[in-house]
Amino acid sequence: MVRLRRRPSRRASSELDGLVLAQFVGAINRPLSAYDLCERIGREGNPIAPAQVYRTLNRLVERGAVHRVESLSAYVRSVHAIDIVSICADCHRVTLDAAPEISDLVRGTAAANGFEVHHSVVEVFGHCTICRSEEAKSDNGPDEGRPSPPTDQV
Ligand SMILES: [Zn+2]
Repeated sequence: MVRLRRRPSRRASSELDGLVLAQFVGAINRPLSAYDLCERIGREGNPIAPAQVYRTLNRLVERGAVHRVESLSAYVRSVHAIDIVSICADCHRVTLDAAPEISDLVRGTAAANGFEVHHSVVEVFGHCTICRSEEAKSDNGPDEGRPSPPTDQV
């Protein structure tokens, strides 16, 4: 049986928002690229064009529902103001933290040079608690059970 592939169709913004946001359920702290989102949504039988995903992501970022992790060119669901994004160099899990004192320091430092900051997020790299504990275990034995880098595969 030949199954016709559905083409991306015109959809309401609210429907697109829902399709994109649903992809982050169960993917807390797992950044997803726009192409990851395209593929996931398409696999669910809702073909979506990359341009639709980008427009939707831009809208969700403006609304504060999604945060773009610049260093990874990917997006995570955000539920509060974010000042620091901690990115695990091993597994790419991210942790989002509010730390207004950091943003105040950035604004103050930039203002000393006459620069007006509209928005700042500090992205830091290191090792998450899971990878650090796995590393500690592997120091005492074979490297087993180490989490693999996130993928969009289910
Ligand atoms: Zn990690």
